[in-house]
Amino acid sequence: MAKSILIVEDEEQIVRVVRAYLEQAGYEVLVARNGPEGLMRVRQQRPDLVVLDLMLPGMDGLDVCRAIRRESSTPIIMLTARAEETDKLIGLEIGADDYMTKPFSPRELVARVRAVLRRVGGDEPAETLIRAANVEIDLQAHTVLVQGQQVDLTPTEFDLLVAMARHPGRVLSRAQLLDATLGEVYEGYERTIDVHIKNLRRKIEPDPRAPRYIQTVYGVGYRFQETP
Ligand code: CA
Repeated sequence: MAKSILIVEDEEQIVRVVRAYLEQAGYEVLVARNGPEGLMRVRQQRPDLVVLDLMLPGMDGLDVCRAIRRESSTPIIMLTARAEETDKLIGLEIGADDYMTKPFSPRELVARVRAVLRRVGGDEPAETLIRAANVEIDLQAHTVLVQGQQVDLTPTEFDLLVAMARHPGRVLSRAQLLDATLGEVYEGYERTIDVHIKNLRRKIEPDPRAPRYIQTVYGVGYRFQETP
């Protein structure tokens, strides 16, 4: 069964990015928008780990963290807005398992979540390898083999390929693909995806002008072909 992660955060953009990354990594994601709701969800839904922002409406992250600690040993990763806050929190020894300072890389957060869960004895999500058509993606080593040949991809190209190859045959819109790469694509323009797709095709397609793996679905987006 997938491990569940509760995000307690009121900033919509951060919730959106962190949720996308955690779900892509195979976790079930719960969200609370303020301190009291966060505490309630910890009590009722018993997540395997909590990503807890420091600045929250209603009840700040510090108090939420202390309240959780009084009742359970649920792992907690705290998010803070400034490095000085992180230093202060570590000094306070409020019982969080790890800290990240904003802005942070969502990929790094996923790595920390994995590390903390591993430390407390939880199992990692089983998925480490994606095989689709002649493409093999190692999610931990971050390597891609196409017909047995390793290809070097940028982090954005890697994320795009993973998003598509995970569900061969399913059409993904540019907005969905943008979500899957939000850690890298700050411009926010959906057409940016087209440029990355073009580069990705150049690297993995035998003939980029007649793509075998990544197909364009006109007016919708792209899809990874299972049987090219
Ligand atoms: Ca906040």
